[in-house]
Amino acid sequence: MKTPNPQSSPVRCDSHNELASTHERTITGWGRTTPTRAHLDRPTSAHQIQDLISTSRGPVTVRGAGRSYGDAAIGHHTIDLTGYATIRSFDPGTGVLVSDAGATLQALHQVSIPEGWALPVLPGTSHITVGGAIASDVHGKNHPHQGSFGDHVLQLELMLASGDILRLSPDAHPEDFWATVGGMGLTGVIVSATLQLQRVETSYLRVVRRKARSLEESMDIITASAQTPSHAVAWIDAAHHQLRGLVDVSTPATSEMLPAGRKGEQLAPHGTTMRTIHSFPGPGIVNHRSVAAANAMRWNLPVSASAKMVHFTTALNPLDGADFWPAAFGKQGLIQYQFSVPTSGTKTLRHILENLQRAGEVPALAVLKPFGASGKGLLSFPQPGWTLALDFPARSPGLATVLSHLDTVVANAGGRVYLSKDSRLSARMLPLMYPQLLRWQEARSRLDPTQKMGSLLSQRLNLLELPS
Ligand SMILES: Cc1cc2nc3c(=O)[nH]c(=O)nc-3n(C[C@H](O)[C@H](O)[C@H](O)COP(=O)(O)OP(=O)(O)OC[C@H]3O[C@@H](n4cnc5c(N)ncnc54)[C@H](O)[C@@H]3O)c2cc1C
Repeated sequence: MKTPNPQSSPVRCDSHNELASTHERTITGWGRTTPTRAHLDRPTSAHQIQDLISTSRGPVTVRGAGRSYGDAAIGHHTIDLTGYATIRSFDPGTGVLVSDAGATLQALHQVSIPEGWALPVLPGTSHITVGGAIASDVHGKNHPHQGSFGDHVLQLELMLASGDILRLSPDAHPEDFWATVGGMGLTGVIVSATLQLQRVETSYLRVVRRKARSLEESMDIITASAQTPSHAVAWIDAAHHQLRGLVDVSTPATSEMLPAGRKGEQLAPHGTTMRTIHSFPGPGIVNHRSVAAANAMRWNLPVSASAKMVHFTTALNPLDGADFWPAAFGKQGLIQYQFSVPTSGTKTLRHILENLQRAGEVPALAVLKPFGASGKGLLSFPQPGWTLALDFPARSPGLATVLSHLDTVVANAGGRVYLSKDSRLSARMLPLMYPQLLRWQEARSRLDPTQKMGSLLSQRLNLLELPS
């Protein structure tokens, strides 16, 4: 068993006596909506986490990197796990990695990529923690081939509100395991996880970009790409009447494919990221005119006929390094409406985008991805079909009404809204969207009978109460 290079791993303080750092702060999700005054503790040892949970009088919210868009990681007493972030071990022979929950996916890759191993599932940002990735059962652009994050967790340690630690795996206590995977931090605190990584020959992808003249053409290109293991994503011009798009299909690059200049860095953990802009005028820069102009400009950029070799972080984490993105939407922040529809509800995608155009609520960013088999987590978001993520300025006056209407359209099509992006769904819609909700609630109340774990999301959606 090899332990990681100490230079690349954070230092953990395991002292019983040392107190977790603590302060009062206003926190938000990544979308900057729902600013909330919170008592924030940042423990650096399992003992400190235990103390914090057992001595807390009210409900406790677990927080990773705070990159969920809405109110999932917000509560009046919030425990920030980013100080508990040691990578405990990594075996370059098997690709099995054991990490504390607060380590980021980027930190894991720092250790594993030079050895030729990568996470099989990487969401649009690598700045999230292992705990957050499991609690949201995150997906990448390769969902039809690799499923979601929970599919690659061999084991996790869950600290209950009592301070006891359970070892859960798909074989040992499967119901509790799958209630915790995708369970939005409401079954307990995930303190560590054992992950199975996958072999990679290089850290580059061979990216082919194609222009699609309509939404349907984008879907056809993505569907055709599903024959081979690939990452597929379409940027949709939601301001355009035909819903044209740019589709990127990426497959792993072998070392022979890399240009001579890149051979020496074929297993580099990081590629180039976007340059950060630090400030915007108060109302932000996103409005109908700027969206239409930016979309037209993007569409008109020349598309190379040949494939490009792109570092996987540049291709799969385009917004990393772009922490300015929410600020561009103005002080009130951004609402991302991410929903999925089953394959049978494909026509709903066009219906929804046209509906938004008619209502004058055109998203600044619209991203389409394919989904394969349903996530095994009882509250997991993916289901076979499609997912569309749409970014709107929260300040838009008509948005709330339009999105409430779309919730019904999505539910009627058999689809659902992604809880990790949500800050506005109503409790009434949840059972219509998540058919395993009751089973999850039963498992959750077994694991946390005193309802010690909670969040603004769990209150808003009435997630903790078993229906009478
Ligand atoms: C730019 C960007 C792109 C994104 N792209 C994708 C994508 O492609 N696919 C996708 O699925 N998601 C995507 N997301 C969403 C993001 O991956 C998830 O919201 C993820 O859960 C955030 O992890 P975090 O560490 O920031 O957790 P937080 O946001 O802090 O918390 C998220 C949830 O996890 C719980 N949680 C956190 N840590 C623990 C723990 N140790 N134990 C128990 N519960 C815990 C919290 O209580 C909360 O319910 C994206 C987000 C951003 C900002």
